[in-house]
Amino acid sequence: MENDLPFSEVVKVFEAIEATTQRTVMAKLLSSIFKEAPPQAMDKVVYILLGQLRPDWEGVELGVGEKLAMRAISTASGLPFKKVEETYKKLGDLGEAARQVMSMKGASTILDYFGAKRSRALTVGEVYESLMNVAKASGEGAQDAKVRLLSSLFAAASPDEAKYIARFIVGKLRLGVADMTVLDSLSDVFNVPKESLEKAYHVHPDLGHIARLLAERGRDALAELRVTPGIPIQPMLAERLSSSKEILGKLGGIAICEYKYDGERAQIHRRGDSVRIFSRRLEDITHEYPDVVGYVMEAMESRDFVVEGEIVTVDPDTGEIKPFQELMHRKRKHDIKEAVEEYPVEVFLFDAIYMDGVDLTDLPLIDRKRALWGAMKPHPKVHHATWRLLDDPAETDKFFLEAISNDCEGIMCKSVKRDSIYELGARGWLWIKYKRDYKSELTDTLDLAVVGAFWGRGRRAGLYGALLLAAYDPDTDQFYTVAKVGSGFTDEDLKKLPEMLDQYKLPHKHPRVVSKMEPDVWFVPGLVIEVIGAEITQSPIHTCCMDPKAGTGLAIRFPRFTGRYRTDKSPEQATTVREVMEMFRNQKKIGEQSIDESI
Ligand code: ATP
Repeated sequence: MENDLPFSEVVKVFEAIEATTQRTVMAKLLSSIFKEAPPQAMDKVVYILLGQLRPDWEGVELGVGEKLAMRAISTASGLPFKKVEETYKKLGDLGEAARQVMSMKGASTILDYFGAKRSRALTVGEVYESLMNVAKASGEGAQDAKVRLLSSLFAAASPDEAKYIARFIVGKLRLGVADMTVLDSLSDVFNVPKESLEKAYHVHPDLGHIARLLAERGRDALAELRVTPGIPIQPMLAERLSSSKEILGKLGGIAICEYKYDGERAQIHRRGDSVRIFSRRLEDITHEYPDVVGYVMEAMESRDFVVEGEIVTVDPDTGEIKPFQELMHRKRKHDIKEAVEEYPVEVFLFDAIYMDGVDLTDLPLIDRKRALWGAMKPHPKVHHATWRLLDDPAETDKFFLEAISNDCEGIMCKSVKRDSIYELGARGWLWIKYKRDYKSELTDTLDLAVVGAFWGRGRRAGLYGALLLAAYDPDTDQFYTVAKVGSGFTDEDLKKLPEMLDQYKLPHKHPRVVSKMEPDVWFVPGLVIEVIGAEITQSPIHTCCMDPKAGTGLAIRFPRFTGRYRTDKSPEQATTVREVMEMFRNQKKIGEQSIDESI
């Protein structure tokens, strides 16, 4: 136990987090367990609290569905599968079902049977190792091996421990402990400024690794973390403005303006013969794009790089960019070979972060572009984003319209000043996006986290009639409501929403959600959806950007779901409260100005 800690200690934290509706309590609970954990167990504690075995981008999957989990519980308890299934059906929560079944009279665990009764407490290390072995079991007989490993684990666990193990393995911990929450607590426990931790997290987004490094070697070790091909980085993000004049003003009068392609952002890493592609939220999406892997291998001279671009579907006959929905169709297809054939894609690169052993993040944009151009060979499927160096608002507006007519969303305007570095994980004014939605008064969409739902009536009886949506505040690590949206959903959306949201359901408000409204159902912030509205107005019922004196927050008027599920975004990547405030302040100016006038 010296380098480990009892799993029951983690379970106590799980129980307390589950019971609280306050984020401060949640943070204190995390800090307490981090203080208690020995350095060697620190990474495992962090992963388990986050409901994962390794950072998401490593793609380590348990490969355990509900059926398999029930089989393991049945074997461990010696009770029939049917009994486990019935209990689960009755309780609607596999965790509770596991707890109940394992504490039932007559549940004789397999260990009891073999005379190896639980003699000592299960440790975090043991739970983690067992689960890792479950994940590793593959190929023929994998299912049986997984059941065997899991049933031994359940048998060695107390009923309360079994509850959380069951939830963990089916991915339904529903604690809503986010990376930022963990970073806050680590900063508190190890007395390290949050900025240093964030910096480390941006180049090496693996909280288990960071926590263990801190615990074992102290804060100085963090500075050793570097951009490394194969390990995703937190991408640089853009601010938004709605007129060329303002944008150029903000960027010092001159900017590199590029088409803003409407596809999937891709971070492409190559180390020798290995190419990996990471999504906007750092998931490994290499397997979805075998074609892109091939193209990049052909198109790049360098064998060691990290570059960024947008993957879009293209009509191979005309070279025309297809709507974003086409890419979604491709992503939904299970047969990758078919997907590649039916929905061909091309790549438009726009930045280089690492090239041939050199970290480029601190170089100005133009030097990074030079590195990118230097490494690219002409290729029919891999291009540099169409760009122009512009210093005139009228020319910029023309370029914007050109981008729109070439099926792009607008343009990205980028600083060319000496300080135009690649700001990892930051939304700053070095990049400014210029989009326009002609159909509505709001110039941009918002990506909001679903934190609650209201039951529908009439045609929507039994389904959700409206969703409660929230913006994120990175300063407080909390979600503030800004809209209740009921329109824009197709029948198909309405039908699938309860299922999509089921995994996030909670009996009470999540501690990281700040709301005055009481929806019928609460959720852990998990799903992000895109909405548009008529305008941002002051509202006494929403908590986003709450002015305590006036008692009003900001809300979206006439919000409408655009049809886009932003599964490429984590809830912490949702539109921030500061952005909502900026949209509120900007909208008047935008309303008065028409694009035609400025050309
Ligand atoms: P954000 O990424 O800013 O949080 P978002 O994902 O909703 O927001 P947008 O608001 O549409 O995206 O704008 C930024 C995105 O535009 C980038 O993440 C990237 O995927 C895409 N993009 C397309 N073309 C370019 C380009 N030339 N340079 C940078 N980004 C581009």
